[in-house]
Amino acid sequence: MRNLAAGNWKMNGLVADLAQVQALAKAHPAPDCDVLLCPPATLISRMADAVAGSAVMLGGQDCHANASGAHTGDISAQMLKDAGASHVILGHSERRADHGESDAIVLAKTQAALFAGLVAIVCVGETEAQRDAGQTLDVIGAQLAGSLLAQLDCAPNDLVIAYEPVWAIGTGRTPTLEEVGAVHRFMRATLLDRFGAAAREMRLLYGGSVKPANATEIFAVPEVNGALVGGASLKADDFGPIVAAL
Ligand code: 13P
Repeated sequence: MRNLAAGNWKMNGLVADLAQVQALAKAHPAPDCDVLLCPPATLISRMADAVAGSAVMLGGQDCHANASGAHTGDISAQMLKDAGASHVILGHSERRADHGESDAIVLAKTQAALFAGLVAIVCVGETEAQRDAGQTLDVIGAQLAGSLLAQLDCAPNDLVIAYEPVWAIGTGRTPTLEEVGAVHRFMRATLLDRFGAAAREMRLLYGGSVKPANATEIFAVPEVNGALVGGASLKADDFGPIVAAL
């Protein structure tokens, strides 16, 4: 199984920033891991041109559960694919918080993404209050139960889980390596229980304040198969060393 270095640009990025992606692609022509960038949807098609022929893959940050129709402002999985995406991030905590996305909505979007032939990266994670209350594994378990299909009706590689503690996103704070390991072990066991041996092949990413300085130690934690990186994915000088660490 190849590790995955995924960058989530969130609501950042203009055409001028494509130079960063070209620099990244040039610096890492044959990376040892899969490399994915998820820019705003407005940039996917131009970024696809900018990285053509390189190892960099592209993804969306959300999709609608329907394939088309009267949903002003929304984007379907099929449209992302058409623009040049192979992946889509779903259920990010910012979408769960800002747009009231429930586990059921994330599940519907996941099905739409897989149906359209995209790899779905489903995000889970506890808030600080939930961690302080000792509820972390309960929260993650409930999110996995509600956001994923009952059966794995896709290749195990086509479903990726990203563990992103909400309190670690954009804060410079991270869980200890033991805490990351405990959640990842729990997620692997839960997925094995649910999907059987195929779940061994599913990639489990850690996300939340991943930087060049902490990437190597986080990637050495058992059951961590890559990272979902926010701020440090915007610049080739930051994301490049994270790619190299995988
Ligand atoms: P930061 O790496 O900026 O903490 O963001 C993490 C994240 O939310 C990626 O999806």
